[in-house]
Formats: sequence, C-alpha cells, structure tokens
Amino acid sequence: MKLRVGVATDVGRVRERNEDSYLAREPLFAVADGMGGHRGGNVASELAIETLGSFRVPAQGAAAALVEDIKRANLRVMERGASDRDLRGMGTTVTALVTQDARAHIAHVGDSRAYLLRDELQQLTEDHTLVQRMVREGKLTPEEAGHHPQRSVLTRAVGVEDGLDVDELTLDVHSGDRILLCTDGLTSMVENDAIERILKDEPDPQSAAEQLVSLANEAGGEDNITVVVVDFEQGDGASGAADGVTVASSPSAVGVFGEEGNGSAGPRTGAAALGTTSVEELPRPTPIPPKRRRRWIWWVSAIVLVLILAVIGTRLYIDRQWYVGESEGRVAIFNGIPTKILGIHLAHVAETTELSASRAEQLQPWQDLRDGITANNLHDAEGIVTQIRADLASSPSRGTP
Ligand code: MN
Repeated sequence: MKLRVGVATDVGRVRERNEDSYLAREPLFAVADGMGGHRGGNVASELAIETLGSFRVPAQGAAAALVEDIKRANLRVMERGASDRDLRGMGTTVTALVTQDARAHIAHVGDSRAYLLRDELQQLTEDHTLVQRMVREGKLTPEEAGHHPQRSVLTRAVGVEDGLDVDELTLDVHSGDRILLCTDGLTSMVENDAIERILKDEPDPQSAAEQLVSLANEAGGEDNITVVVVDFEQGDGASGAADGVTVASSPSAVGVFGEEGNGSAGPRTGAAALGTTSVEELPRPTPIPPKRRRRWIWWVSAIVLVLILAVIGTRLYIDRQWYVGESEGRVAIFNGIPTKILGIHLAHVAETTELSASRAEQLQPWQDLRDGITANNLHDAEGIVTQIRADLASSPSRGTP
C-alpha cells in the first residue's frame, strides 16, 4: 500500500499558543492535544509525540506495541509533571495510527479523533469525555454534547494517572481509503457533514488538510486545530505530500515551530515530519483526577495538623494537673489526671511517701484516696499529704496495714 499524506496545524483565532503536536513519519501518524496551565499543555503533547517518535514497528503485534508506547508516554508525562511544579496537572490526548501491509492500527486516548472515509465518513474513535459518557448513558443527545460548555472535559488523558487504558482498533485498508486524524479544534468547530464534503471533494491530502483548518477558523477557530490526512493507494513505497511535508524521511525529522510569527494568518502546514507549536495559551480545563487528588492531600494534611495540635494541647493540660492518690499501697502525689483513656494512664507518680494508703482511707476525710484527691498544683498536693500525715498521727492506730 502506498501512502500520500497531508498535514496542517494552526493556533486558531482565540488561543495565544498552539498546544497541539503531531507526527507524520510513515508508517506512524499521530496527533496530540495538550492541556494544563502555563507551558504544561505544550510540554505534555510534545513529550508524548517525542516518545512515539522512537516507535519501531515490530513484525508482529504492531497494535499492542503502539499501545505500549502510549503507556510509556503516559509515564514520561506523569514523571515530568511530578518533577516540575509549573507542569503539575498537565496531560495530553493521543490518537495514533500505524500502517503495516494492508492494515491500519489505531490507538487512542482523549478527545482527538480518527475517521475513515470509505464511501462515507465514519468515526473510528470514541471521545473520552464527560459529555460522551453522558451520551452513552442517554443523558445527552450527540447534538447537545457537541455544544455543551463542558464538552472538552476529559475522562481519560495521557500523563494523568497510572494504569492508563488505551483504546485500540485494527482495520483492513483498501486502495482509496482515507484516514483523518484531528484534534477537537476541528471537530468542535466543524460539523461532520462539512468535514466529509471536503474529504470527498478534495483529492489532494495536503490541500484537504489545509481546507479543514481554514473551515475551523472560519467557524470561529476557538481552539488549536491539527489535521493529518492519510490516503491509501495501490502500490509500494511512499510519496511525500505537497508543501514539503516530510514522510518517511531523515530520522532527525523533528520540527518545532517558533514561538512567534507563525500565529494567525491562515493554516500552517507541516514544515517537518514532527511538529509542535508554542505561543501563549488559554488553558483547557484540567482533567478532574489530579485536582481531586491535590484537594485530598490538603484535607489529609489539615486533619493531621489538627490531631497533632490536639495531642499537644491535651499533653500541656495534663502536665498542669495534680492529685494525691495511692501507689503500691502508699500515699503518693501524681502529676496528671486520675483516669485512663484507651488503657493509657494520663498521670505518673511525682512523689511517693511512707504513709499507708489503706490506713489513710480508714479516716473519713481520705476515704476516696484511691479515686484521687485533686490539687491545684504541686504545693497544694504536698499540703494535702501533710494533712494526711497529721491526721494519721492523731488517730489511734488499728494495727498494721
Ligand atoms: Mn483542543
């Protein structure tokens, strides 16, 4: 099978920075739509594409290998996000296509999409979004989902959580098939009918890609737009598309668009096989899990702090309490309170005396000695002991204790 490829990416009309990245190096094609504040989105999509850039198609099991590579990208983005506080919470979508013989393997996470044009346009991937889940549950119609304000909230993204689930799909391709990979900057702006019309009417893949980007911009261009069009034709080998899109070229075909100057005027087309863009940005909604996790850490920290303060406070209180009680048969002065909590004594002996506790208890005023006679301070406690000693001395002895 021979491939012809067209690629276009654009910042759109609203965002200041293009956080989409893409790869078009036969037999591997991918789009990635990054998210996260500051530089995060850009770094995430770039890192994911860079990881896929070293992909080698195995003789067998290409789909599984591609899934493994996306999982590898997931760990790399996670590690990077954990090590740099500016990048925390970043993530990216990845929709990737690898061709082998007459087969196309697709692996997918997020809300970028893959479509197949064969007679008519069919969507091959399912969006991992909150609204798509609601559509599946019958809570929203597809039309409502398309215009929902929260339509870009993802339920799955690369770089967010361990144990990422990657969708995969393999299909037989025929001569005349056309596969489109695109970020949601196209599909949130342009109806499927209009996408289908351009893909049907425009035979040149590069021109089709540029027209799709233009259409998204004419509709408002509210998001970054990235489009990869892959045509399958009878024959061997590859031929590059128009405008210098590199396909199956040098191993160093990695291109990064400049920060400035590529901005607003018309679609940018791929000047290199691997492209990313970066200008200023408006952050996309961050996926829910990391935020929630961060909030949990705050809660747990707050609870631990309160517990520590409570323990210190209790300790300070107990250390200022005194009472006179019984220890090993003798009258003793205790520091603390005469009680146990969870089997722990909240007092310790400060001073013991030679006075018999049982003899003291036989005297009416000291009969509750074993329960503890509270004192205001150590001096006060010593006063009580002095009183007991005096009372014992003045009372007739009734034998030894
Ligand atoms: Mn997007």
